[in-house]
Amino acid sequence: MFSKKVVYVGEIPVGGNNPITIQSMTNTDTLDTEKTIKQIINLSNAGADIVRVSVRTLEDIPSFKEICKNSTVPIVSDIHFDYKVAIESIKAGAAKVRINPGNIGESWKVKEVVKVAKEYNIPIRVGANSGSIKKEFENSNMPRYQALAESALQEVKIMEDLGFEDIVISIKSSDAKENFLANKYISEKVPYPLHIGITEAGIYEDALILSSAGLGALLLNNIGDTLRISIAGDPVQEVLVAKKLLTLLGFKKGTRIVACPTCARTEIKVEELASKVKEWTNGIEKDLTIAVMGCVVNGPGEAKHADIGIAGTKTGGAIFINGKIVKTVPENILENTFKEYIDDIKNG
Ligand code: SF4
Repeated sequence: MFSKKVVYVGEIPVGGNNPITIQSMTNTDTLDTEKTIKQIINLSNAGADIVRVSVRTLEDIPSFKEICKNSTVPIVSDIHFDYKVAIESIKAGAAKVRINPGNIGESWKVKEVVKVAKEYNIPIRVGANSGSIKKEFENSNMPRYQALAESALQEVKIMEDLGFEDIVISIKSSDAKENFLANKYISEKVPYPLHIGITEAGIYEDALILSSAGLGALLLNNIGDTLRISIAGDPVQEVLVAKKLLTLLGFKKGTRIVACPTCARTEIKVEELASKVKEWTNGIEKDLTIAVMGCVVNGPGEAKHADIGIAGTKTGGAIFINGKIVKTVPENILENTFKEYIDDIKNG
């Protein structure tokens, strides 16, 4: 189940029935204010709803303040070890703070952070990843996914004991199955929104496949309220992939291009035409399914769920809407006619 509780990151609601939000993280030097702001704008333009920025020491604070002031999306401060940095990042404009109470140290320090978060009315993200499973759980007989989830629950308990429930939980593993089971386990135990992701997923293709499988399994089970797809390299890629995944799974508005795998019956250049359709419809925030099918024998029937489609014939193509052929066109005007139909639907 999607979380029962909703928290606000800036103006953005996370959890409940709200749209699943896309997050990413800057990889510029936080001290380089200009470069970091530029990257945040690029991430926001690509579709990021929330961006996380590492605030390493108090030295980063003036730059972080400037970054928050100029950002088009809410900024999450990512803090390790120093409670003072967490507090100052909240005062500098963070819309959420990510801490690991375990590495912040003494409980009075965590208490101080919570006090300021309450005062500024911002949520705190806590959690665990496969590298930070608590010894007491790791050495017990419980399965690893449960040890991971229980480690996160212990962090949650610290917050709850301080009377703080404006929480987002994140549990991440680089093992997709462990990740799935741990998130499922925790979603059944607490009402807080879950930030999901596969950690250290690797370079582009591997990260894309692993994250799609791992996060897809969670989302299709209604688990996950905000997500990050981790890809080594330019973070804009993370956002584009996340957006695509949410669209293809039906959680976000967007165009879906259906194309048949082609076979001996194929009469048109399916891959080439489908790529063109993708270009024509790029960036449209409208639910639209467009099919490009190789033959008229099976095409219209197989893709009858599409809003519009084209199927190859011996002499050109047949344009179909909701599975019914509305026009047949010769090869020389096939592409243009199909584009006109799509433009009409796009603008209609
Ligand atoms: S739609 Fe036609 S061409 Fe495409 S895979 Fe099916 S039978 Fe083959």
